[in-house]
Amino acid sequence: MVATKAKSASVRVRFPPSPTGHFHVGGARTALFNWLYARQHGGKFILRIEDTDAERSDQKYEIELVEALKWLGLDWDEGVDWQLVNHEWQGSSRGEHGPYRQSERAPVYKRYLEKLLHDGKAYYCHCTKEDLEAERQAQLAEGMPPKYSGHCRNLTESPRGKKPELIRFKTPEARMEFKDLIRGTVSFDASLFGDLVIARSVESPLYNFAVVVDDYEMKITHVIRGEDHLPNTPKQILFARALGFPEPLYGHLPLILASDRSKLSKRFAEVSMLKYRDEGYLPEAMANFLAFLGWHPKDDREVFSLEELKGEFDLKRVQKAGAVFNQEKLDWLNAQHMRRLSIDELLNRLQPFLGEKGIAAPKSFVRKVIAAERERMKTLGDFLKLAGFFFELPDYDAALLVWKGNSMARIKEVLEKILARLEKSRASDFSREKLPGAVAELIKEYDRGAVLWPLRVALSGQSASPDPLAIAGVLGKEETLRRVTAAINKIGLAL
Ligand code: GLU
Repeated sequence: MVATKAKSASVRVRFPPSPTGHFHVGGARTALFNWLYARQHGGKFILRIEDTDAERSDQKYEIELVEALKWLGLDWDEGVDWQLVNHEWQGSSRGEHGPYRQSERAPVYKRYLEKLLHDGKAYYCHCTKEDLEAERQAQLAEGMPPKYSGHCRNLTESPRGKKPELIRFKTPEARMEFKDLIRGTVSFDASLFGDLVIARSVESPLYNFAVVVDDYEMKITHVIRGEDHLPNTPKQILFARALGFPEPLYGHLPLILASDRSKLSKRFAEVSMLKYRDEGYLPEAMANFLAFLGWHPKDDREVFSLEELKGEFDLKRVQKAGAVFNQEKLDWLNAQHMRRLSIDELLNRLQPFLGEKGIAAPKSFVRKVIAAERERMKTLGDFLKLAGFFFELPDYDAALLVWKGNSMARIKEVLEKILARLEKSRASDFSREKLPGAVAELIKEYDRGAVLWPLRVALSGQSASPDPLAIAGVLGKEETLRRVTAAINKIGLAL
């Protein structure tokens, strides 16, 4: 609470989202950078919900945010004694913390608003919306940039019959600068601001004021946030100075841009983190992707777990230039991270994506399916699309069985010979390693495509799949014979 204490305290950072929309890539990147900075300095990561705008705030976004932070593995420290149970906040006896919420802290802001009013550093403004609009129009007509004229700054008593409308800060007319951790020295001309509105009443502070009070009360040492907040920083520094607070260090993260360096479209910018989760991106891949939005390591390594990022991340290596959002990179990272997982771990992560048939199937079978398909999967959500045929053969057209340059009758003949060979093979020989022997002679007699293509279609019902002998290995003798027989019958009907 003492003004000098924050300076000597260890690192304390905050992530203060407004629950007015989905928790998207920009917010998640800010959360991650703060979390990494806190964790690598043995500091604290504070989560604060900025819900002073009651009309636009919605608890559903707060719940989404908490779920997404937990999914990403970004745990926070301190907070109020609440926890999220079945999508509702409940009093916690388990010591879990819910985030701080500005809507629950009105008395704190009131104290500081009253102090500024008492010290003559803020004043009640009685100008109505209409007064202000008239003033603005007059300034524009004279070709001047609009700013509040300071009409109510020196009133000694309230104008009769007029209620105070707002509380304004007496902005000093000065140039000011601060040292940004990423952008270097940034300077502003505060005289362009005019007297800033800091509250609608002592009960109802505005964003810029509440942030300054909270950052002080929560002993925040570093404010790391998106570059879109840069215009707020000089205002917040002015308020902090007027209240005698120490100034935290500021670092503004670069904008996130589309691949052609234009503004990132809503299609990408506003996608909820939970949507990525539901599509089957791994949280470690998402964190890895977010980390590279404005940062890169010393060498050219690209695949990092959250734990590895903790060791490697360095705020000093965050760039000023816009960071490009590249969907292909996310897909690539996701595939890389999936390859890092053991089959059992993948099986675990795939549970929500298995579908009814996948869940009902024996675990040993699903493990084999995963091993056969993992190289082709970009997301967990791809699993059923790619591997669904293992669980249930989709319907397909007899014509698909025909390899180019062959007749249906010839393919039927090939399939009958494959069937005969496979019937003679031992069930224990049904593996990718041992099955080639069973079809080697047929391949010599007909050719690779004429043998393996109809086998692929017979076993998968589709034109793209893993190696057909690997499929046969996973399906086992009985099911393989059943599917090849079904293919022969299908052609028989079509001939
Ligand atoms: N509540 C603000 C937002 O969601 C963040 C404020 C800050 O980082 O200072 O954009």
